Amino acid sequence: MYDTENLFAKILRGEIPSTEIYDDEYAYAFPDINPQAPIHVLVIPKGPYVDMGDLTANGTDAEITGFMRAVGHVAREVLALEEGGYRLLVNNGPDSNQEVPHLHVHIVGGHNLGPLLSK
Ligand code: 5GP
Repeated sequence: MYDTENLFAKILRGEIPSTEIYDDEYAYAFPDINPQAPIHVLVIPKGPYVDMGDLTANGTDAEITGFMRAVGHVAREVLALEEGGYRLLVNNGPDSNQEVPHLHVHIVGGHNLGPLLSK
């Protein structure tokens, strides 16, 4: 069940401020408020999807394609991370400690990111 009062729904509606990095019909990108690397950007779908499972099960082909294209575009063209590389991270559900129940892809980069997970 999608909570329309979640933080990122409020950001999409402009009720909570954010700095626009990219915006199109399917996606919106903005800097993470607590960056974990020199570059840390969040890309969220415009539609009401809780997580990646929800988008891929219930989104239209256009929404899924549009969202994933936006993620790649932001990493390549907007943030220019292709040469040095970057990490995409999606927390999905309780075991991942997902904090905000609106799908968001973290784009993290700008230096060597080390191992994937802490143990
Ligand atoms: P999660 O843990 O759900 O994958 O990631 C949620 C992210 O949202 C965290 O990295 C956190 O720093 C970020 N965040 C939380 N509140 C805000 C906010 O008000 N503005 C922005 N830009 N990011 C936020």
